[in-house]
Amino acid sequence: MAVYSPITAARFWSKVDVKWSAKDCWNWRGATRKGYGNIKIEGQSHSSNRVALELFTGEPLGELMALHTCDNKLCCNPRHLYAGDASDNMTDIHDRQGRCNDTLRPEDVVVIKQRLKMGHKHREIAEDFGVHKCHITKIKAGKAWARINSG
Ligand SMILES: [Zn+2]
Repeated sequence: MAVYSPITAARFWSKVDVKWSAKDCWNWRGATRKGYGNIKIEGQSHSSNRVALELFTGEPLGELMALHTCDNKLCCNPRHLYAGDASDNMTDIHDRQGRCNDTLRPEDVVVIKQRLKMGHKHREIAEDFGVHKCHITKIKAGKAWARINSG
């Protein structure tokens, strides 16, 4: 079952700054709400990252949420989005409050920062340290462990 009509899909992508590269963020150029892209479909507001992921997978997200690996709320690049449940989102919330770093030690963070500099994938680093990749994203963005220097 298609989630959205082809007309809706075309209207949606016309508002996204689609790049050739899958690495780049595809920013939403339309209306926003609370920092997220917003599109009205049949009178209902939808966040653009959610619609992007649903169009990409062809599946309704249902209870799941579309979470970003790139920390860019306006990004609609499906390769930067993943379906997560409320606990993933809770992890995000905890992380924002700075409570979720407990599993990492400062010496781990030094290595993580060095690996980020070398261009290692967030997912690979996260797996090696047994943490969710959102932690790696936060470290990269300077939102967690900002005081630790990679030297
Ligand atoms: Zn992105």
